[in-house]
Amino acid sequence: MRISKSVKRYKVKTPGGKNVMNFKKRKSSYPKCKKCGAKLNKPKLSVKKLKTLPKTKKRPQRPFPELCSRCMREYFKEKVRT
Ligand SMILES: [Zn+2]
Repeated sequence: MRISKSVKRYKVKTPGGKNVMNFKKRKSSYPKCKKCGAKLNKPKLSVKKLKTLPKTKKRPQRPFPELCSRCMREYFKEKVRT
């Protein structure tokens, strides 16, 4: 497997006396609302697993998937009123 240069690496000495390069696992962050910063109702998944999932499972199927449902409703209300 090809590992990108941005992945942190560190050297480890094995019991057999060999020096081996190990790679740190990348941490994925929780999906958050862009407006209020609340956690979205989506599971925290590893970077590897996120790549394999379809797009529909990574974000909600409604307008403004980057906002939480409450912020989306308020946005539409404001749009209608003004
Ligand atoms: Zn929000």
